[in-house]
Amino acid sequence: MQKNILLLILLVSVIIPVKAQKDYYFPGETFSSEIPSPYSYLGYHIGEWHTRYDRLVGYFEKLAETSDMAELHTIGHTNQLRPQVVLIISKDQNIQNLENIRTNHIKLADPNQPMPDVSNMPAIINLAYSVHGNEPSGGEAAILTAYWLLASQSDLAKEIRENAVILIDPAINPDGRDRHTNWANMHKGFPPVADPLDREHNEIWPSGRVNHYWFDLNRDWLPLAQVELQNKIAWYHTWYPNVVGDFHEMGTNSTYFFEPTKPFSSENPVVPRKNYEEINSKFATYFAKALDDIGSLYWTKEVFDNSYPGYGSTYPDIQGGLGLVFEQGSSRGHIQSSQRGDITFQFTIRNQLKTSIATMEGGVKERVYMHRYLREFFQTGVNEAGRDRAKAYVFGDEFDESKNRLFLKLLLDHKIKVIENESDITLRGKSFKQGKSWIVATSQPQYRMVRSMFEKVTTFADSVFYDASSWTMALAYGMPYATQTAVGSGSKVSTLPTQILDFPTDGKFVAYLVDWTDYYAPKFLHHIQKAGIHVETTSLPFSSNTDKGPREFPAGSLIIPTAFQKLSHEELKAALMSSAKESGQHVYATTTGFSAKGIDLGSNNISAVQQPKVLMLIGQGTSQYEAGEIWHLMDTKVGMPMAKVDISLFGRINLYDYNTLILPSGNYSSLSTAQVTHLKDWLSRGGTLISLRTSSQWLQSQGIVEEEYLTMEEKKSPESLPFASRRDFAGAQAIGGSIYLAKLDKTHPLGFGYRNAEIPVYRNTTLFFKPSKNPSNTPVKYTSEPLLGGYISPANLEKVKQSASVMVSTVGQGRVIHFIDNPNFRGTWFGTNKLFFNAIFFRDKM
Ligand SMILES: [Zn+2]
Repeated sequence: MQKNILLLILLVSVIIPVKAQKDYYFPGETFSSEIPSPYSYLGYHIGEWHTRYDRLVGYFEKLAETSDMAELHTIGHTNQLRPQVVLIISKDQNIQNLENIRTNHIKLADPNQPMPDVSNMPAIINLAYSVHGNEPSGGEAAILTAYWLLASQSDLAKEIRENAVILIDPAINPDGRDRHTNWANMHKGFPPVADPLDREHNEIWPSGRVNHYWFDLNRDWLPLAQVELQNKIAWYHTWYPNVVGDFHEMGTNSTYFFEPTKPFSSENPVVPRKNYEEINSKFATYFAKALDDIGSLYWTKEVFDNSYPGYGSTYPDIQGGLGLVFEQGSSRGHIQSSQRGDITFQFTIRNQLKTSIATMEGGVKERVYMHRYLREFFQTGVNEAGRDRAKAYVFGDEFDESKNRLFLKLLLDHKIKVIENESDITLRGKSFKQGKSWIVATSQPQYRMVRSMFEKVTTFADSVFYDASSWTMALAYGMPYATQTAVGSGSKVSTLPTQILDFPTDGKFVAYLVDWTDYYAPKFLHHIQKAGIHVETTSLPFSSNTDKGPREFPAGSLIIPTAFQKLSHEELKAALMSSAKESGQHVYATTTGFSAKGIDLGSNNISAVQQPKVLMLIGQGTSQYEAGEIWHLMDTKVGMPMAKVDISLFGRINLYDYNTLILPSGNYSSLSTAQVTHLKDWLSRGGTLISLRTSSQWLQSQGIVEEEYLTMEEKKSPESLPFASRRDFAGAQAIGGSIYLAKLDKTHPLGFGYRNAEIPVYRNTTLFFKPSKNPSNTPVKYTSEPLLGGYISPANLEKVKQSASVMVSTVGQGRVIHFIDNPNFRGTWFGTNKLFFNAIFFRDKM
């Protein structure tokens, strides 16, 4: 009994009284008692704990159950099967009429439709939170915003319910958010600890920022590499919101940031100036007032990149809406010391709540204006296309059906209109075959997205970039394309073409043959190796008389002899067929080892492909993005299980259990001398180490490889540089992310499967290595005029021209394959993924 009294006293002392909480977030407001408050559902006040995502969704379910003014929609599921939800709130008549409101609204995005009467159309406002999972104030503000909107008796709440449909996405990244939620809650002290060094404020690797595959989802609105954004974009195009709020957190010592961002350099070149110069300023007044009312400080107009279309605050700007980035100085935990004193979680949530309400207020007050702008945006897109010299883009890779399908899917997902190319054409030396190429007319409502996919930009208003300065998706896919001055009249593509796969009919064959050019050929190879099938590859081209007539097989083609197999002929055929279907590959067969041209099937230039056994080192000090890109690539593009092992466990690894070791960019200095010796030993006995970017610096420092850095006479620093300009000067020397043309040695095993001797590569590092002294060990180096898109300083461009992109260092019987440029960047560089696959599957051929 006495124990219970004690417990009660303790509880009372740690819980902030109900009234004080309401006064903190909503002073002087009255709420309907019919709507359950967050406290009544969760059992704690918002800000006392980090709310688990299942509880957040549970509360939204409760609201939708209780109120006629709310509906909960599930738009998909994350990798870890958390539902992605959107809570829709509006007055009950609007909710009953939701589908009509939606279909009427999206007519605004189609200039071919008559202009609807916008005077009574509600504003469509999307509030989206916590895309970075460890920026949790957004998700908590989502709870309070939903509660306020449904329960507040204020005039403003009534006006918003009346004149807007509010779409609340409480967490774009639920998997990452829960990772951080558990971290913050499990380290919460009683009383909480504000010391920034406390474990609560310092997550371990990987952070909650990223999703299941360690991707930054606030870079994925354009590439759609991740399921969360695939679902989100499909949903987005069913609504075309007028306003989208994207709520983030930044460093603890910062106050609050809202748009406008820095003029020109932070802005996207295809977005109408009106967005930045007129609309942003209109909305800024609402945010300023909301934060002034509670005495919170903020800043605007300075850095914060708004240019890359893959951001959640930029994509809406290219879809006729207004995308707004908000950044709150983070308490990263329940309370943390800052230069201005202790920042509480409640304080960060309240600022996000106030700007959420201000976003809705601005959206409702500017409703008619924003509707007209939405139509004007898509209409002026068509008008601008009329002035563009390029009337159409033709694209298609005649040798890579899978890549064509992946690229087509991307265009269709972004609602870009594509038509069939109905004749064989040659443009600037590139040939585009009927049935294997497509046409995108520039004159279409999505003109600005078309430019984002195809246009190469090399002139800029400024030289400082927070992130990528180039994102031409056609180059990332390594997709052959050209502009055309006429459009053609092919039929519209609305779904991906069905594949008709070649597979040999019954017969007695000497070997089956598969070209390595197709994007998913490595998936086929992995599947058949897993089934225990013996596979060989050729280092020289040949042509063979196959069941479908004479065919050319370039270097890298797979040969599956019917002899030397453990499986029976029937089992072999069945396994090949199922793998071919799974990976979309054509399989041919021949009844003779005597080739029509080139080497025969028993040549010494044809050798067995040894099954890879891959281990990737990960953990503190390594790049979670690069590691995640590789994990995602192996899972989703090959289907190969790969051990990802923490550096701290290196002492337990017997490297001889593996033949391939991957080091994502990072610092491996925690490895002991004995461990480095084990690594050297393993390499010299035939191991393959795949090193990305800065890992090569570490290998160099350990004497494992002996390559040379490229040093050129540095451009002298200006004699005098105003203190205030120092950051801009440093920024101009960085390589934020740009695209270059490189020469590829197609005869090198790393070049197998490529048909063109020039490929685009992505670079976002100022690390420069000279090409290898061994003249045949640098399969990818830059061309003499390499810049395809993006910003680079003239001095850095000179260095690029003389340096290596991919090279191989021989170490005894083994080798290190250096990727100085990241071939798997953001899960979207389909054009250079093959280099990486080659490193894994053909490692012992170089
Ligand atoms: Zn963020």
